[in-house]
Amino acid sequence: MTPKIARYLAEARPAAPCLVVDVDRVAENYRALRAALPLARIYYAVKANPARPILERLVGLESAFDAASIEEVEACLAAGAAPAAIGFGNTIKKESAIARAHRAGISLFAFDSAEELAKIARAAPGSRVYCRILVANDGADWPLSRKFGTSVDQARALMLRAGELGLDPYGLSFHVGSQQKDGGAYEAAIGQVAMLFTDLTERGVDLRMLNLGGGFPISYREEVPAIDHFARAIMHALTRHFGNNIPDIVIEPGRFVVGDAGVARSEVVLVSRRDPASDLRWVYLDLGRFGGLAETEGEAIRYAIATPHDGGAAGPVAIAGPTCDGADILYEKAGYRLPLALDAGDTVTLLATGAYVSTYASQGFNGFAPLAEHYI
Ligand SMILES: *Cc1c(COP(=O)(O)O)cnc(C)c1O
Repeated sequence: MTPKIARYLAEARPAAPCLVVDVDRVAENYRALRAALPLARIYYAVKANPARPILERLVGLESAFDAASIEEVEACLAAGAAPAAIGFGNTIKKESAIARAHRAGISLFAFDSAEELAKIARAAPGSRVYCRILVANDGADWPLSRKFGTSVDQARALMLRAGELGLDPYGLSFHVGSQQKDGGAYEAAIGQVAMLFTDLTERGVDLRMLNLGGGFPISYREEVPAIDHFARAIMHALTRHFGNNIPDIVIEPGRFVVGDAGVARSEVVLVSRRDPASDLRWVYLDLGRFGGLAETEGEAIRYAIATPHDGGAAGPVAIAGPTCDGADILYEKAGYRLPLALDAGDTVTLLATGAYVSTYASQGFNGFAPLAEHYI
């Protein structure tokens, strides 16, 4: 937690449940990434946290933006981003959304199928397009494979087709999976895509851009390697495969930019021993899966949890949200332990919840209001 957030929690005492994000930390993370990978142009993945204060701060830092929907495109424009600094990076878009983005001046679109390419050619003629390749997502806590991306062979055919359709075959992209903790995943993916890049260039396609996606991890319950580790792996692979001819490099970080800039405050609703013969306690918070903690699905993302009793004796817990849905269990198998003194009415803090929380909150399931947000 940043000192600014600690001060805000102590002085403003915002009601739980809520999310508090330190926008200065967002700027620091952006600068750290730029310093680690100076040759990459950063397109912030808006879906990680699309709040206006974050977008405005990043516009001020001359970030570009990766938008997944026409609504996100328009949010970036409203925050002051130039159309040239926005890419429409979802490979699945309504044709009407492509047309609207095109009218707004967006000229960069992702695709991974012939059918989507045809839509872009119709609705955004002459635009720059890049093809997303399916790469391994091993080592990622939140994989994005299967749903997106195509094979190298298919991508080759599609990039040639793009030119025939009057589009500008601009580049290739991949995503190694979110919260990717293995720098080797980037090296392997760059190697895979570099061969296609060279092959297409030799066939006369004017490819200029390689988009390495996002995936850069942050520390939750467990520490992860520093960003320099990933930057070194990436630079090593780029030099090895492209020599002095490295194309324009794009990265699309989401989690790394905003994740550790936010904390969630939650009130303990109940601590119960459902089986008196067991020392397992069930801790029910007023913030759960439907309040925004969607990434606890499969216990994939394991948030560190601070309590007012830290340091005292602790015991095993299962942690759940407040709704009447059986799926609203955060952690049962991940081996969480919380202080024995923890009780209903206490306030706990879930750390590093700046990414992929605020917009995952439901619209009033069980009557609970969407998560309150404070940007400071
Ligand atoms: C979600 C997403 C990102 C951001 O990924 P992080 O792991 O948060 O960095 C980047 N690019 C695309 C295409 C995405 O879908």
